[in-house]
Amino acid sequence: MSREIRVRFAPSPTGPLHIGGVRTALYNYLFAKKNQGKFLLRIEDTDQARYVAGAEEYIRESLEWLGITPDESPWNPGNVGPYRQSERKADYMQYALDLVEKGHAYYAFDTSEELEAMRERLTAARVVQPQYNSITRTQMKNSLTLPEDEVKARLASGEPYVIRVKIPRKEEVRFHDQIRGWVMVHTSTLDDKVLMKSDGMPTYHLANIVDDHRMGITHVIRGEEWLPSAPLHVLLYKYFGWEDTMPEFAHLPLLLKPDGNGKLSKRDGDRMGFPVFPLDWKNEETGDSAMGFREQEYLPEALLNFLAFLGWNPGDERELFTKEEL
Ligand code: GLU
Repeated sequence: MSREIRVRFAPSPTGPLHIGGVRTALYNYLFAKKNQGKFLLRIEDTDQARYVAGAEEYIRESLEWLGITPDESPWNPGNVGPYRQSERKADYMQYALDLVEKGHAYYAFDTSEELEAMRERLTAARVVQPQYNSITRTQMKNSLTLPEDEVKARLASGEPYVIRVKIPRKEEVRFHDQIRGWVMVHTSTLDDKVLMKSDGMPTYHLANIVDDHRMGITHVIRGEEWLPSAPLHVLLYKYFGWEDTMPEFAHLPLLLKPDGNGKLSKRDGDRMGFPVFPLDWKNEETGDSAMGFREQEYLPEALLNFLAFLGWNPGDERELFTKEEL
């Protein structure tokens, strides 16, 4: 029996929802509807330093205005799954420890000064991409280099530590992307990313993979800025033993500045006289504000059609589609 199609939109509440994010949400939503599947929404709020009060409410109200309604979300009554990551902190630690146990992750005790010194050493030696990897980790303070007793003592003493993934030195990671085709990356270009931070929170990479697995996600449709992270994600699926349920990937091209250099920003919108956010936004702490399509009296249908028609056309002269037709 084939699996039910399940896709997700997984914004981080770090500011107002950008129209690029709306487009990603729309693609996920339409893909789910077309395939009689489910469209899930998950709030990825594990980065407490970047958390912005009011951003989650903004995302919710924007999607409501646009009619991009999730089938499952932290806001639907009865949905108690890992829809808001910060509420599931302890679970992720278990998954990280499982990787340590299997030899795919390790404890690291380096201070920020030691990490900085390593980067400086590598930069001075003209290493193009200074990183914590199979070569440099041998000179650092971690459970691969320290005697076992010392590791135990450090952990028992409450010394801060992170858990890093152990990327092999010479392997090829291959995966299929619905848009890019076959992608192949050599592990020597990847670093031993942190999975658990010293504040006991998982990083994006760990939480994202664990939750996509737990939520039975079949297709990961997201912005192209995440393509460089996908090889690590594929490795994590493998290390957890979840290869059989690895999702299909589709990395969408981004909405770019008029000159093609980087992501379309609020400033580009200001210059051209249109908003890049669905609703008006004000950050109470910093005073930052931005105008929204709703308050500028654009119709939600107009914005949805505009986003759907970027990089696509139906092959005839039609310019307006209902959500059902899309
Ligand atoms: N939380 C990530 C973001 O804000 C999600 C990326 C993904 O879909 O994997 O874009």
